[in-house]
Amino acid sequence: MAILDLKYYGASVLQRPAKPVKQIDRELIKLAEDMLESMYHYHGVGLAAPQVGVSKRFIIVDCGDEYQSEPYFLVNPEIISTDGIQMGPEGCLSLPEMFVDVERPARAVIRAKDLSGKIITINAQGLLARALLHEIDHLDGVLFTEHIDDAETLAREIPILKDRVRKILSGEIPAVSEYDEEEELLEAEEKVAATV
Ligand SMILES: [Zn+2]
Repeated sequence: MAILDLKYYGASVLQRPAKPVKQIDRELIKLAEDMLESMYHYHGVGLAAPQVGVSKRFIIVDCGDEYQSEPYFLVNPEIISTDGIQMGPEGCLSLPEMFVDVERPARAVIRAKDLSGKIITINAQGLLARALLHEIDHLDGVLFTEHIDDAETLAREIPILKDRVRKILSGEIPAVSEYDEEEELLEAEEKVAATV
């Protein structure tokens, strides 16, 4: 397995629709393994293939024991239905350290193939629904910033984000944040809970 480099805000692969997966082959299995290792490495709860530069409709999600017994590997995922509303902080590994409240449906039914080719249906709510919808957005070239109506927040956050991305890409700061203060760590864990 390997840690993959992330694509960040501004990368064209994050702005275009990804192509359907035609077959589940060794290449996809390898991508899945590498994406899983990378997602844990960067402390995310979800990752979409375009975030590692692969424009394919494939996502992984692991929101932990409260939501799922093992990671989801979802090939060509589709939103079957959504309902309700939830409001909460959301982050994205491609938009490092930016956490903003985003409105999402409270529940979602998602259908996809797993890596064995079996069709599975997920009835998700809370963080899991948020993570799945966020990842499927990535497959359509949509970032969570597009769900934020508050122009003032965007005007404040986007320049900070762009500067951070520039520093990561130039090697000035690490791609994985390091927190040394215990207080910061706790705060970070709360935030990381919704970094997809
Ligand atoms: Zn994301």
